[in-house]
Amino acid sequence: MLLGPPGAGKGTQAQIIAGRFGVPAISTGDIFRANVSGQTELGQQAKTYMDAGDLVPDEITVAMVKDRLAEPDAKAGFLLDGFPRTIAQAEQLRESLTELGHQLDCVLELVVDEDELVRRLSGRRMLVDGEMVQRDDDKPETVRHRLQVYREQTAPLSGFYETEGLLARIDAIGEVDEVTARALAACGAPEPGQPAAG
Ligand code: ADP
Repeated sequence: MLLGPPGAGKGTQAQIIAGRFGVPAISTGDIFRANVSGQTELGQQAKTYMDAGDLVPDEITVAMVKDRLAEPDAKAGFLLDGFPRTIAQAEQLRESLTELGHQLDCVLELVVDEDELVRRLSGRRMLVDGEMVQRDDDKPETVRHRLQVYREQTAPLSGFYETEGLLARIDAIGEVDEVTARALAACGAPEPGQPAAG
């Protein structure tokens, strides 16, 4: 699982690390955005919260993740990106994992200071239909609010998983591949080409 504030690089690292392990990266933010673009009912429910930089309510998010974890491609493992984001979500996740017969192997916290986060988020653009656009929630006022939401609601998860002995913290400033190397080392992953232990 990847834990870290908006702009820490969770999405980028999630793709690379999940690829390395051959498991799907499950990003709640991506699932919500796909539902907003597809104008589904879930997307309509989530959009107001996302645009304001608030968390989508736990009931909606937890039900969505539960369905996603039951998909066949998640049977042999998965990497969670952006979930859980509240203690209540973490508790629900624990139950779902028990039901599915899975367990968390590692919770990786990407640490980046707030000035750097604001710089990254306000400069971030995404390619949509051939155009570089700014995500609605990357506007400066919303960015500040998302960081506050992170501090208040999500940061406590760091202590929660530390108590469970699952937390690894890494410095997430530097080149993408340097951060990946730190991430894989912190979670006890094999070097490329080496068989996974355990
Ligand atoms: P970032 O980490 O940059 O904030 P995400 O793509 O993870 O970006 O999330 C974007 C938005 O999607 C969040 O601000 C929130 O509104 C919603 N969201 C994503 N994951 C969750 C979650 N686990 N619980 C509640 N809301 C979520």
